[in-house]
Amino acid sequence: MTPPRNSNAARDIANVLHPYTDARAHQKNGPLVITRGEGVRVFDEQGNAYIETVAGLWCASLGFDNERLVQAALKQMRQLPFYHAFTGRSHEPAIDLAEMLIERAPVPMSKVFFCNSGSEANDTAVKMIWYFNNAIGRPEKKKIIARIKGYHGVTVASASLTGLPYNHKLFDLPIQGILHAGTPHYYHCALPGESEDQFTTRLANELEEMIVREGPETVAAFFAEPIMGAGGVIVPPAGYFEKIQAVLRRHDVLFVADEVICGFGRTGSYWGSQTFNMQPDILTCAKALSSSFLPISAVMVNDRVFQGLADGSAGLGTFGHGYTYSGHPVPAAVAVETLKIYDEMDLVGHVRKVGPVMQEGLRRRFSDHPLVGEIRGVGMIGAVEFVSNKETRANFDPAVKIGPRLVKIAEGHGLIMRALPGDGIAFSPPLIITAEEVNDMLDRFGRALDDLTVQLRRESIT
Ligand code: PMP
Repeated sequence: MTPPRNSNAARDIANVLHPYTDARAHQKNGPLVITRGEGVRVFDEQGNAYIETVAGLWCASLGFDNERLVQAALKQMRQLPFYHAFTGRSHEPAIDLAEMLIERAPVPMSKVFFCNSGSEANDTAVKMIWYFNNAIGRPEKKKIIARIKGYHGVTVASASLTGLPYNHKLFDLPIQGILHAGTPHYYHCALPGESEDQFTTRLANELEEMIVREGPETVAAFFAEPIMGAGGVIVPPAGYFEKIQAVLRRHDVLFVADEVICGFGRTGSYWGSQTFNMQPDILTCAKALSSSFLPISAVMVNDRVFQGLADGSAGLGTFGHGYTYSGHPVPAAVAVETLKIYDEMDLVGHVRKVGPVMQEGLRRRFSDHPLVGEIRGVGMIGAVEFVSNKETRANFDPAVKIGPRLVKIAEGHGLIMRALPGDGIAFSPPLIITAEEVNDMLDRFGRALDDLTVQLRRESIT
């Protein structure tokens, strides 16, 4: 149906080029225009309410309204609406926020560098690692290993770290010197008869073989999300990161934790690094840092990395990197207020209470469903994966587009959902969600799944 002239939908179709959107199909389908938010819900132009089951893009941890964050932004805009951090300039919001992040870090960290997005934070980490190795006299140690199905962003270096085909092949990526190790997804990647322990040992051995093959003197760093998010909500088996880190230590390879999704309570600890016993040298975070009310991200480095960077200033020249809006005072002030709110409401304690309602609810209600292969997740992040055959664990023919179909059906049941690569559907609601709202979300999801089941039978797909 053609939207009315001058409607938001018509003006969107005429003017907006959307990220991650089929541009041709959008000309026909048009946008879903969201006009306001309240708690875990957003509302469209017709006034329909939707529970945001992925907190937008895994990010709106405090939901879609918060007066304290509004006031923090206003106050800072009146006081000092902009100043930068180049050539030693500074301001209180950035100083406060850096101090708060260092205090809360999962391992001792030394300094914080601010950026505006997760992609920028990861690109910055890559450049810091290259500069660090130049500074300490090992310029050949530059290769970086990430993982197949990892997601680290879309800028040129971070998209190269991302391990998903559609982020690479259409853009002639990855750039040189970026490699991808195996995915810790036991359900799909384990060999027949392999225990979880044998599986993680094999992954660590394969990583070590890759480092040795490349030459340890050429391998600088390993990037990992605690739980792989956009690649499928893949939770590593117990012991995985311990074994991986032992390999990294043996070959003096820096470990970077990408906490862009897992940071700030998502997994039921303040950091995903704590849930999975990770001791990163560098940590990147974004999204929930400001509850996404304004864009801001951060890179934390430990003292060893900082000392190398500082040596670089003397030996090589100043670290020639930074963004106009690195540590912008308004998002920084909002992030400071966000972290205060997390402490005051004991957000991590809340996730520990309500996370299990979601995890147990998903498993109890949907494990036995004929379309469901695996249900996975920790804390307030999870996924349901659909299979065409529970025995072989095969997914559906991609042409069936099972995830996007379910997303569309779920919209009619008052849910905004997100399909994942590999026939999954994600659950990562605002962390403030109550047990009651979790049950409402799962009831609605159940009804959408029933509709999908009927639709697939009608089309003789199942
Ligand atoms: N890292 C991870 C783990 C992410 O999930 C994302 C975004 N989903 C990014 C990096 C990139 O963040 P941004 O979209 O803010 O650039």
